[in-house]
Amino acid sequence: MYAQFGLEIPQSLGEALEMLAPSGNGSRVPIAGGTNVLVDLRARTSAPDTLVSVARLADLRGVREANGQVTMGGCTTVSDILRNPEMRRLGSALVDAADVFAGQMVRNTATVAGNICCGSPAADLVPALLVLDAAVTLESSRSRRQVPLAEYFTGYKQSVRAPDELLTQICWPTPGTASASRFYKLARRKGDAITVVGVAVSLQVEDGRCRSARIALGAVAPFVKRATIAESMLEGKALTPDSIASASRQAAAESSPIDDVRASGEYRRNQVFVLVQRLVAQTWAQLSSGIRES
Ligand SMILES: Cc1cc2nc3c(=O)[nH]c(=O)nc-3n(C[C@H](O)[C@H](O)[C@H](O)COP(=O)(O)OP(=O)(O)OC[C@H]3O[C@@H](n4cnc5c(N)ncnc54)[C@H](O)[C@@H]3O)c2cc1C
Repeated sequence: MYAQFGLEIPQSLGEALEMLAPSGNGSRVPIAGGTNVLVDLRARTSAPDTLVSVARLADLRGVREANGQVTMGGCTTVSDILRNPEMRRLGSALVDAADVFAGQMVRNTATVAGNICCGSPAADLVPALLVLDAAVTLESSRSRRQVPLAEYFTGYKQSVRAPDELLTQICWPTPGTASASRFYKLARRKGDAITVVGVAVSLQVEDGRCRSARIALGAVAPFVKRATIAESMLEGKALTPDSIASASRQAAAESSPIDDVRASGEYRRNQVFVLVQRLVAQTWAQLSSGIRES
């Protein structure tokens, strides 16, 4: 059973930020879809005095594109991503991740901000957002700042977000026509299973060469991270099976997986190699043949 807690339901972002401001009235924690918060409350791994619900703040929901930038409200749900016909063009890897996320009921309430802020190394939307070069906006009653997602996590379930800050939006550059991204979740089942290894990749080509590469790894380190040395091994080159295999081996070396009930660390590291190799090769083939995301 749950411990007792209060629930505040603000009607505006300003009101929510005021409710989260330090006040000496006990601990206050945001709740969006509640698909992590309620599990933690029930397991008593978290016992806030008051939950501040941001789920009904319409300003924090939805996706827009302007001036070469995609902006997604923090309370956008996984189902919102899947329902949006523009999302494949705006962030293909994110649609891949949403497509294998939980089951329908969880997708309908689980939010993007909640997925980032829960800090799980297995959070499926995070690798996809990392390869899109996303940044997050953190707002409190005293400040508003933007942080690259690559600099957001500092350790296992640790981040630069202060307790009174809300993650209000996520933005990233609109992918160009010469770029593509994808995500693959290795798990025991499709949907409703915790990720064993998650890999996202994005490539941008120019004049037959890889102009930029992004590789992000989930569930193989204390937090979702990029394999930056592996990325640099792909950049500036016309990719070949050999160069892709070398970069994939490097990506595996940049992971630090643990053994747990789902898989051994050794298996996970091997799968990083296999999946990075596969996704980079597929993405390169797609771009080389001129097939665009739609
Ligand atoms: C059955 C089940 C299946 C699941 N399957 C998957 C899966 O396949 N892949 C996956 O990645 N996850 C999965 N999850 C975990 C969970 O659904 C996701 O992490 C989800 O995105 C969390 O979003 P939420 O809105 O429910 O967050 P909440 O539970 O509301 O919040 C999560 C954390 O984020 C904080 N928070 C929420 N919103 C904000 C905000 N705007 N600003 C600051 N902090 C905020 C909360 O305080 C809390 O610490 C699953 C969970 C369940 C119960």
